[in-house]
Amino acid sequence: MQAVAEECKNLIAGKWAGSESGRTFHSINPANQDEIIGVFPLSTSADVDKAVKAARGTFDKWRKFPAPRRAEIMFRAGEILVKRKEELARLMTREMGKVLRETRGDIQEGIDMTYYAAGEGRRLLGETTPSELPDKFAMSVRMPIGVVAAITPWNFPLAIPTWKLIPALVCGNTVVFKPASDTPLLATKLVEILLEAGLPEDVLSIVHGTGQEVGNALVSHPDVDLVSFTGSSAGGREISKICADQFKRLSLEMGGKNAIFVMDDADLDLAVEGAVWGAFGTSGQRCTAAGRVIVHKKVWGAFQEKILEKTKKLRLGDGLLPDTDVGPVINEARLDAIHKYTEIGKKEGATLLCGGERHTDGPCARGFFYKPTLFTDVKPHMTIAQEEIFGPTAALIRCDDLEEGISIINGTKYGLSASIYTQDVRNAFTAMRDIYTGITYVNSSTIGAEVHVPFGGTKQTGNGHREAGTASLDTYTEWKTIYVDFSGKLQKAQIGE
Ligand code: NDP
Repeated sequence: MQAVAEECKNLIAGKWAGSESGRTFHSINPANQDEIIGVFPLSTSADVDKAVKAARGTFDKWRKFPAPRRAEIMFRAGEILVKRKEELARLMTREMGKVLRETRGDIQEGIDMTYYAAGEGRRLLGETTPSELPDKFAMSVRMPIGVVAAITPWNFPLAIPTWKLIPALVCGNTVVFKPASDTPLLATKLVEILLEAGLPEDVLSIVHGTGQEVGNALVSHPDVDLVSFTGSSAGGREISKICADQFKRLSLEMGGKNAIFVMDDADLDLAVEGAVWGAFGTSGQRCTAAGRVIVHKKVWGAFQEKILEKTKKLRLGDGLLPDTDVGPVINEARLDAIHKYTEIGKKEGATLLCGGERHTDGPCARGFFYKPTLFTDVKPHMTIAQEEIFGPTAALIRCDDLEEGISIINGTKYGLSASIYTQDVRNAFTAMRDIYTGITYVNSSTIGAEVHVPFGGTKQTGNGHREAGTASLDTYTEWKTIYVDFSGKLQKAQIGE
């Protein structure tokens, strides 16, 4: 029996309500597009305006509510997430397709982030330092920024929202949350959980709708102080321009063209396992997905044979089924975009080893499935080795030595994640020093973030900010330096008496 679609609302100024447009949209199951998961308000800039005004109105009260108390609410939210982990993971698989093992991981990452960021409520450390002048005290403290617009993608429907919402709230900001319109249900569940945990209703709003309407209205709103965006580089570019005009604080986490580098001394079976997981986990729809696998010429043949064999064995299907390895991609448009890259790869002279087409057999007929796709003989400059495909496609690239491999890794406009497989400590340390990415792995795949260390990328992957770890506090707070002069006279720094 098909589950009944949930009817969800926006939360604005402490009230759950539809959009002033009166219109709605559906969230559907990408493994079976006939299954409607939920119905949501198709909101407008007028809804956004109300949400931002409410967030502005309550900011002063929230910032003065002690940080450790703010954090207690988050700890309670973490406990609720723990209790509801399995139910939420199943819902996530239905809403965006990734297999249950992975959606459990997504919820766990949300739990980890919630507890971790809540811990910051009792730290939020500043610095004290000696003054250069006598009888003077110097310190720096963190201040909340104000109203935060959190705009999130669909590939980590719970984890990424927690990366933004929880530290933003612990730091004393109020938040207007615009989740991806492909995964509005999981986003709504997170907001409900935060309210259940005791978050005052007017501190956080959720406004559903498209990036073009709701996202754009939020980014453009003069009362939004900080935009925290995770999504495509195209979206990030548009947002940057608007924010630049208003000198608005902006944190961007965008695309990647990540690479696994297999050296001639690598444990090949381990490297194959990491490459398959990196390329085809979440159907390749991770910002850290390994879209390129660079292989040393000495192990090129052996590696290729092994990865092909393993890739061909992957089973596509509904992520709720226990023997499914790879679920659907998110929607029809993504399917088309992925297939276009297959055509481009062939046209530019790469050799298709497997996949390269939709999968519509049997129970997959009504879903958005694409066969795990391997290209070989790929040259580093080819389109499929340069652009983010965001689908289950990996490009095998042959290289001559360590130096060439690292230069291929660094030779794209992105800089999120990279990995090297080697057993030689000299290779490992050279790679750790010379790969220019925000995240570098040794003997592991390109994917799998831990919440207590910084996450983000160089070059066009980001704009210098980091999510997670204490680094994220720099996104959600401003530094204030305070001097207290208790000398009783006018002392002038650098000038003296
Ligand atoms: P999009 O950029 O299409 O969308 C991301 C979010 O932004 C959605 O909520 C979307 O709304 C909204 N949005 C889109 N355009 C605008 C705009 N002009 N103004 C305001 N909001 C906008 O990305 P995807 O959802 O397709 O996500 C995939 C991308 O995200 C990939 O490039 C991936 O690499 C990147 N990503 C990066 C991560 C990182 O940490 N570096 C982590 C995860 C993903 P809607 O879709 O509802 O219309």
